[in-house]
Amino acid sequence: MTRGVIVNDVHSRLNPTRVREIVPVASLDALVDAVRAARRHGLPVCVGGGRHAMGGQAFVADGVFLDTRGLQRIGRLDPRAATVDVEAGIQWPALIDGLAARQRDAAEPLSIIQKQTGADRLTVGGAVSANVHGRGLTLRPLVGDVESLAMVDARGEVRAVSRGEDPDLFRLAVGGYGLFGVIASVTLRLAPRRKLERLVTVERVDDLVGAFSRRVGEGCLYGDFQFAIDESARDFLRQGILSCYRPVAPPTPVSDRVRELSKDDWRFLVELAHTDRRRAFQRYAEHTLATAGQVYWSDTHQLGVYFEDYHRALDRRLRARVPASEVIGELFVPRAALPDFMAQAAAALRRRGVVVVYGTVRLIERDGESFLQWARERYACVVFNLHTEHSRQGLAATAGAFRALIDLALGRGGSFYLTHHRWATRAQVEAGHPRMRDFLRAKTERDPDGLFQSEWYRHHVEMFGPWQASGVQERRARRYA
Ligand SMILES: Cc1cc2nc3c(=O)[nH]c(=O)nc-3n(C[C@H](O)[C@H](O)[C@H](O)COP(=O)(O)OP(=O)(O)OC[C@H]3O[C@@H](n4cnc5c(N)ncnc54)[C@H](O)[C@@H]3O)c2cc1C
Repeated sequence: MTRGVIVNDVHSRLNPTRVREIVPVASLDALVDAVRAARRHGLPVCVGGGRHAMGGQAFVADGVFLDTRGLQRIGRLDPRAATVDVEAGIQWPALIDGLAARQRDAAEPLSIIQKQTGADRLTVGGAVSANVHGRGLTLRPLVGDVESLAMVDARGEVRAVSRGEDPDLFRLAVGGYGLFGVIASVTLRLAPRRKLERLVTVERVDDLVGAFSRRVGEGCLYGDFQFAIDESARDFLRQGILSCYRPVAPPTPVSDRVRELSKDDWRFLVELAHTDRRRAFQRYAEHTLATAGQVYWSDTHQLGVYFEDYHRALDRRLRARVPASEVIGELFVPRAALPDFMAQAAAALRRRGVVVVYGTVRLIERDGESFLQWARERYACVVFNLHTEHSRQGLAATAGAFRALIDLALGRGGSFYLTHHRWATRAQVEAGHPRMRDFLRAKTERDPDGLFQSEWYRHHVEMFGPWQASGVQERRARRYA
């Protein structure tokens, strides 16, 4: 146990929070004990996995921070049901490796269906709690891959939660940002581990949705489009590289010497993206086009290179005056509105002088299950990774840019992801997430003493008015604010 420590998120580094103590939990019993002890002492509890959420969801000031990464066992693998029981703190690389090791002699091994792209050391519990998505071309968010959960609730009781058992809690907990209890384990749906060929083309945003549809028609299962990031070029946000992945016959050998970004390539490209975005995109495009035809496994192709503290070294190399990092924002737009959204986004970002370090477009199918659903339609999902100086002006520039992008998405019937920051205005949250009030109300009903909290939660309670929280919760929020 560590007392009075600052915790922070990994990517933006914009959420330093002094928690009262960090309690690592590595078993269900330890988790139950930790929750009950915090409850006895009247302390708020926050729950963390890989700490990649940038909106302050995993931390609460003066709270007990439960570090779930020790919960990493892989339990029963049921080949017939195509499910596996996993503890919630397991991270994707360990899960993928563990599944492969378990099924070394299996004729038709199973593996994960989707994970996030861009970073790997993220936990299954964190993924379920943000209801994440990967680069599936015809997939719903992760809720579609979750069979059931074992959770420790605010009374310290272990509960089985699924579509059949306490379905309301299931819908709240998936995408519930840890506010309804700690997920101890997840029964995750799996799919056959398949070989996939990578198909790479240069596309323009105007016909991107058509290009994606053609690839889906050809049987591709995964894909994304990385767009040009040089704001001084005509092609800014208009042209990019579409990489899609199509199943091939099982005997096809997996490329043994795949051209992949090495760690040095990755560092170099990230640096170029800060200093010479035209060359950065050219280099990225050359590299990616050269990978066309390579054959990958359906699970490991979703892993990638990422260095958790890359920006600190970059700041040193670039002799930055103030520390900086990137902040991600994700906008959801009805697919037909994508070209217009991208054109307006390019204009807004240019006008504001905000630097895009990378960006992608992916697809999502509608999620009709999770309570705080973000995929309310079949959207195109647009990710912007914005360079952000940790100064008043730098933060204001990024916050303003994301608010402008959110307005552009909302104006076209779209929405935005709540996971990456909390700069959306109240009107934007209400328009993009019309169930937020009911979500907060359900939280109060399920956890009347407000045991599970986060800075993200407090922000939204404040945003929607103290009437949302029970008296006890209000007192707690004030006591620990
Ligand atoms: C570089 C980068 C790339 C990303 N790419 C994607 C992407 O492709 N798609 C996407 O959808 N998202 C993406 N994200 C967002 C990321 O998936 C989410 O932030 C996710 O929640 C991170 O998981 P984590 O293990 O780091 O969780 P944390 O950040 O530690 O926690 C996130 C939330 O989950 C809760 N939580 C964690 N563990 C538990 C548990 N056991 N029980 C209950 N609640 C729990 C926390 O309380 C918190 O509310 C990306 C983020 C970064 C920084």
